[in-house]
Amino acid sequence: MSVDYKFFAQVNKAFDKAAEYTNFDKGLLAQMKICNDVLHVTFPLEKDDGSIEVIEGWRVEHSHHKLPAKGGIRYAMTVNEDETMALAALMTYKCAVVNVPFGGAKGGIRIDKSKYSKSEIERITRRYTYELIRKNFIGPGSDVPAPDYGTGEVEMAWIMDTYRQLNPELNAEGCVTGKPISQGGIRGRKEATGRGVYFGIAEACQNKQDMEMLGLESGIEGKTFVVQGLGNVGYHAAKYMSEAGARLVGVAELEGSIYDENGIDLEKLVEYRKDKGTIIGFDGTRELEGRYQVLEAECDILIPAALENQLNESNAHNIKAKIIGEAANGPTTSEAHEILKKRGALIIPDNYLNAGGVTVSYFEWLKNLSHVRFGRLGKRFEETSYRKILNVIENISDRKFTDEEMGYLAQGAGEYELVDSGLAETMINSYNEINELRKKHDVDLRTAAFINSIEKVGRIYESMGIFP
Ligand code: GLU
Repeated sequence: MSVDYKFFAQVNKAFDKAAEYTNFDKGLLAQMKICNDVLHVTFPLEKDDGSIEVIEGWRVEHSHHKLPAKGGIRYAMTVNEDETMALAALMTYKCAVVNVPFGGAKGGIRIDKSKYSKSEIERITRRYTYELIRKNFIGPGSDVPAPDYGTGEVEMAWIMDTYRQLNPELNAEGCVTGKPISQGGIRGRKEATGRGVYFGIAEACQNKQDMEMLGLESGIEGKTFVVQGLGNVGYHAAKYMSEAGARLVGVAELEGSIYDENGIDLEKLVEYRKDKGTIIGFDGTRELEGRYQVLEAECDILIPAALENQLNESNAHNIKAKIIGEAANGPTTSEAHEILKKRGALIIPDNYLNAGGVTVSYFEWLKNLSHVRFGRLGKRFEETSYRKILNVIENISDRKFTDEEMGYLAQGAGEYELVDSGLAETMINSYNEINELRKKHDVDLRTAAFINSIEKVGRIYESMGIFP
């Protein structure tokens, strides 16, 4: 089968542009860019009605400069070799930007999930995992999958169970992340990508100079935003944006798009969609033509949180948002990027902005390898210490704390609090790191993020002594 490497070529184009700002050997850069291992599998599925269907899937390990290689598994009809390679490469660069010590990988199965029963999906997932095991493309120290578009906790639990049955080893739970808490998952993983998107956008909106250039006030509060995709990432990004005082004015989903300049109540919309199977017709909102129209609607921030190539030559000229927060992987083609940039938009790139998911996956993997929940050892000790300090304050002043105040002020950090703090630290520090490079080289944030990863990965290759 001849493959048209379009998406992978887009990623490499951005890489090449950034590589010009570094001094690495050309051969080293070529090694950094290519995908080390590409696995293509086909296997039969026996459907519930007894018929047999051939299922096609991939797993790509882009880079082994650090191990394990890491990246999600996607179930979608867009999945092909090019897409999986591009997404695996993005994982390498993403992990490097946020200092998550993994190589990059990605997997995918080319299916329309809505056409299969739950037990068919389970059989597909378990068989795919079996193929990965047989070909050495999964393991806590080699390649660790996670959720992506079309997959979630349930699939990750099946993957872990299949792996552990065939490899009953001490660290088997660490073979996959994004698992349910009861199966070795971590609190905060489910919301992590969306929460990271929020932290990243909030940090960008804190930059007074940038906001002035865009003609906006600093801060998230009062800004209007549109989200494309109400999946796990889009929903959580919209939730934290709304909670911080931004106004959700437009939503795009598979069935179409809606707009309301007065604001859309996210939770009520989600309930409505659950009930009616569509976002169209929701309370006070206006239906726009088709599912892409809302991308061009009036708003301060546009958050594409679905699939790649959504902002492209056909719509980029009409996009009015001043800030593009790339929650999806590869949502903006390089042509669209240039058009938006020329118009003065601030593009917060995917290989930084959606890195919250893999960051918390890293924490989950650490938890699995250490076999202890974060906070288990220290939480009570911290609480006791804080109480002692508060008691001293009470004794030397007239201030008496109520039980409620005591509970709040003396709270020790549990797993969720530690994960959230680690995620915020990562997203905020990394933004400032790439923003410095942006200023230093007078480039956009995407190029700065690529420079950042190329420098980090390149230094590792160089220090291995493989290259001159
Ligand atoms: N699929 C997510 C991503 O594209 C998460 C990957 C992971 O946690 O390994 O970043």
